[in-house]
Amino acid sequence: MRVLLVEDNTELVSLLKKGLSRGGIEADAVGTAGDAGHVLATMQYSVVVLDLGLPDEDGITLLRDLRRRGESTPVLVLTARDGVSDRVIGLRAGADDYLAKPFAMEELIARIQALLRRPGSLLGRRLTFGNVALDTEGRQVFVADASHAFPARETAVLEILLRRSGNVAPKRLFEDHLFGLSGDVGSNAVEVYVHRLRKMLADAGATVKIHTVRGVGYLLTEDKVG
Ligand code: CA
Repeated sequence: MRVLLVEDNTELVSLLKKGLSRGGIEADAVGTAGDAGHVLATMQYSVVVLDLGLPDEDGITLLRDLRRRGESTPVLVLTARDGVSDRVIGLRAGADDYLAKPFAMEELIARIQALLRRPGSLLGRRLTFGNVALDTEGRQVFVADASHAFPARETAVLEILLRRSGNVAPKRLFEDHLFGLSGDVGSNAVEVYVHRLRKMLADAGATVKIHTVRGVGYLLTEDKVG
């Protein structure tokens, strides 16, 4: 179990690391929203502990961006702001829990452990549509309950489509998620992965179809006829 701390106060970071390690939790730390975005594009953490007051960007903006690109890791928001409206904004932006500073280390550890015990976070560990399901932790795809190991990028495309559940997913979302923040995306790269995923789903007997919404993005629909 590994936690990512997104906190710019270095003193607090070192206290948190010590406290968490006493509770059997290993932690990495970054001090800016930019670094957090980069790290989370490539690394998998069990929980993210997110401070809202970051030097480069508001933690809420970061959280919204992470959720928009399909990041499902549970997020515990840590902040000096304890107003009800901040709490509501945080939860609406995709936070799973909220803890106001100052807090007791025992409480933070207990809340992190509670997030880890949860069968599904607010966003869910298992996403389903039609006869297709995705275990977002184990990265296994299920079609009519048969397990399939799709390649990582095709699986990521499917995850985004499933998270949008019946809404159009803009193309930019796929670019951000598939290629992180590298910005090095071929113009038809997304089409290529969508095309491959379509074939894999069809071959596996999926009842869902990926529709292209020209100039906008992609939409997952259920084919109830066949
Ligand atoms: Ca701060």
